[in-house]
Amino acid sequence: MKEALSTREVRVGTSVVIGSGHPIVVQTMCNTHTADVQATVAQCRRLAAAGSQLIRITVPSMADVAHLQEIHMQLRSEGIQTPLVADIHFSSEIAMAVVPVVEKIRINPGNFHPDHEKARALFGEFLELCKKYDRAIRIGLNHGSLGKYIVEKYGNTPEAMALAAMEWVDMCIDAHFYNVVVSLKASNTVVMVNAYRELARRMQERGVVFPLHVGVTEAGNGDSGRIKSCVAISTLLSEGIGNTIRVSLTEDPANELPVAQYLAHRFSDAPSAVLSEREETILKAACDWGAPLLNHEIDDVPIADEYLKDELLQACRRRFYKPEYIACPGCGRTLYNLEETFNKVKEATAGFKDVVIAVMGCIVNGPGEMADADYGYVGEGFGKVTLYRKKEPVLRHIPEDEAVEKLVELIRQDRQD
Ligand code: SF4
Repeated sequence: MKEALSTREVRVGTSVVIGSGHPIVVQTMCNTHTADVQATVAQCRRLAAAGSQLIRITVPSMADVAHLQEIHMQLRSEGIQTPLVADIHFSSEIAMAVVPVVEKIRINPGNFHPDHEKARALFGEFLELCKKYDRAIRIGLNHGSLGKYIVEKYGNTPEAMALAAMEWVDMCIDAHFYNVVVSLKASNTVVMVNAYRELARRMQERGVVFPLHVGVTEAGNGDSGRIKSCVAISTLLSEGIGNTIRVSLTEDPANELPVAQYLAHRFSDAPSAVLSEREETILKAACDWGAPLLNHEIDDVPIADEYLKDELLQACRRRFYKPEYIACPGCGRTLYNLEETFNKVKEATAGFKDVVIAVMGCIVNGPGEMADADYGYVGEGFGKVTLYRKKEPVLRHIPEDEAVEKLVELIRQDRQD
């Protein structure tokens, strides 16, 4: 294991310190509707008790800023000090509005405005506001949601992801704002690992290294989701890259915490996780064999458990024995039962090979985030679904109870053509 990358220290609220040799911080995100204040407070209570050191909450509209404030106040009045992170997509207006409310804000500045120069100007204003309130931020870029200007210039590659992030990193340094964490998530483990390596290298070259939030986005659920997350995150942590982690699962967010805690404990001085024997076997195998497989140091895994071997090889993209699934974890934007639907899609499509199928919780971010998917099942809300072939919506407004069948038909039809 390499020594941890030397990074800046980022303070979030009064209780959490990220980077600079501190134990790896574990976090997760609520999947309740932010407007449902009581449900969100109850979930935060549960997640804080389960050891989440930061809790992220989506803020899809200006009206939700008041809901976030209410959630924050209620938690503090109960003595729960876990810092909250506002998750903002697209709107600089909402990003600015939450700065006085919560300890940390996650943004993708490239989405602040379609005009890149305007996005830069808005990000500059946002940084000044964060300075005033002494907030922390995460610059969160995902594979699949890179700005158009970056994709046109550099393609949709790990290098492009790192370059895109460096533009905002440079702006923070120039503005003398250092309470910054950066993430470059992807659902493809190879892309994800290489993007973080490249970003770490570029920040070292720049002479200012911000802590990294590492995670595999849209990892799915069950054993596959856990293994996919662990092979990639452990590879980076073993290289000293990563200061805070989120294991995204399409399940109850509390289920993410033992997995994240296992990783944090294995690679730093963080508290250990309580795991079942089976879960420990799976996570240990993913951490033991992930890096050698991803780095092409080995071509096979010397274990007797054929199922686990298949899962490890697929998670590292060395051999595909079943469809590759991408599923977002869901959040306050999700308007249907994502976990149940994802399981139905997996069951109905298990027989297809060499295909990437995405199941996404919302029409706002889902299509952009599906990155390499061949087919996408995207919830529109109000019982309707849009099916995608690559990035193209091919069947819109399908009633939810017909959508899985239509997806199977679509794949079958394409295979006959
Ligand atoms: S794609 Fe999923 S996790 Fe992302 S914003 Fe939409 S519902 Fe939330």
